[in-house]
Amino acid sequence: SSSSSPSNGGKSTGIEDAITPKSEDFSRWYLDLVAKAQLADYGPVRGTMVIRPYGYAIWEAIQSHLDQRFKETGHENAYFPQLIPLSFIAKEAQHVEGFAPELALVTKGGGKDLEEPLVVRPTSETVVNHMFAQWVQSYRDLPLLLNQWCNVHRWEMRTRPFVRTLEFLWQEGHTAHASAEEAEEEARRMLDIYADFAINVAAMPVVPGRKSRIESFAGANCTYTIEAMMGDRRALQAGTSHNLGTNFAKAFGTQYLDQAGVQQFVHQTSWGVSTRMIGGIIMTHGDEKGLRMPPKLAPIQAVLIPIIKKETDREPVMAAIAKLEATAKSAGFRVKVDADTRQTPGWKYNHWEMKGVPVRIEVGPKDVETNTCVTARRDKPGKEGKVFGVPMEAEGFTTHMKTLLDEIQASLLAEAHEFRNANIVDVKSYEELKAAVAEGKWARGGWAASDDDERKVKEETQATLRCFPFEQPAGPHICFMTGAPAQEVAIFAKSY
Ligand code: AMP
Repeated sequence: SSSSSPSNGGKSTGIEDAITPKSEDFSRWYLDLVAKAQLADYGPVRGTMVIRPYGYAIWEAIQSHLDQRFKETGHENAYFPQLIPLSFIAKEAQHVEGFAPELALVTKGGGKDLEEPLVVRPTSETVVNHMFAQWVQSYRDLPLLLNQWCNVHRWEMRTRPFVRTLEFLWQEGHTAHASAEEAEEEARRMLDIYADFAINVAAMPVVPGRKSRIESFAGANCTYTIEAMMGDRRALQAGTSHNLGTNFAKAFGTQYLDQAGVQQFVHQTSWGVSTRMIGGIIMTHGDEKGLRMPPKLAPIQAVLIPIIKKETDREPVMAAIAKLEATAKSAGFRVKVDADTRQTPGWKYNHWEMKGVPVRIEVGPKDVETNTCVTARRDKPGKEGKVFGVPMEAEGFTTHMKTLLDEIQASLLAEAHEFRNANIVDVKSYEELKAAVAEGKWARGGWAASDDDERKVKEETQATLRCFPFEQPAGPHICFMTGAPAQEVAIFAKSY
């Protein structure tokens, strides 16, 4: 069995280790949690972060779930260079306009000024098209379905660990298709994968929908998004999928010969989910005691803690724990034994609660006698979440654990869902939107107004149009801004 060593040097918990109450200052609570749960630390350069092993383990879990789904839908992983000639970015007019303010440039190499500055990639549509233009000849080369896992740089002004950093990790899918219909289908398919992952794995009840023109990706015809509600009710764009049309294909000459022997531009998509997702998980599920990890993504699903009061208890308790660990591991659960002798069980409870481990398993001498253990749920406080007398024998234990993890996964989703629904207000006028936003809530209402009106809402209320949800309430709808008939309702909210 393994043992953990708390990295605060064995200092016991006290007031000084508490995080800012979530109810008091959500923003400070978040930063405290990120530090105390050892998820990330600040890098030496403003806006950069170091992802610590526990945070990185969450990213690896996200990666493995998404990567499997990308492969199931026919995508292959590849890798493109991080340095891109500046001239590439300038080729697509909207793209350069949108990204110019956020570019990091390399102007020197090997001590000499470069002939052409190089962009540290903010996203890879340009270099991908440079290659696709060479790889795609005929309709037989399509569809081309690629993904890459990498880092990107965007010179952001306001930053926050995971949520918005200068450098972040993500995956970016890039595809090329023969028809506009296929590209549209692909963009929607990948957004569906993101939504399904967010809801059923991360337990985040996201709202999938379409972005407004103003909020769309620079260079896209249409951007789809999953919008999540954080614990302070602000919205988080948790992933995006773009239908790029032929915009980049035209800029880079990405063409194919169709079956009739005619040159055509390819229709493209791109889609990305980043380390921001970890920020979303924290701000959706975290509570006053720290993080609460959904079991499907938890690097550690259960921590095993020996309760040893006298030295003579040690051997039988540790033997029982070792057996339980072996049972759990062979059943496929991710478990950890915390046998550190320098810390009290109480210290360990706080420590693993801060890290959001879904289940705690306690084994003391009395449990050994009855061949049982005690489980405690992270999502339910104190006694409410405790189950005594859980069998230690393999079958009974495994069944109990499976049910428990499923219940925690479901209860985190249900709790977040209820919270979200309670904080969306249907509005019929601009006044009602202002009131809802002032209360910190999301406002949903018919929208058929102009881009200028959308900018006015942002200027006057700080709320932005998050999306036109795919799931629309029954109409007819009236635009809350103009009173004119509206095709759709939109959601407005303050966001990260
Ligand atoms: P985009 O290419 O702009 O559509 O970005 C794809 C996804 O990456 C977005 O939906 C965000 O979830 C995420 N993202 C964008 N900018 C940042 C950033 N500065 N830090 C972390 N994640 C980001």
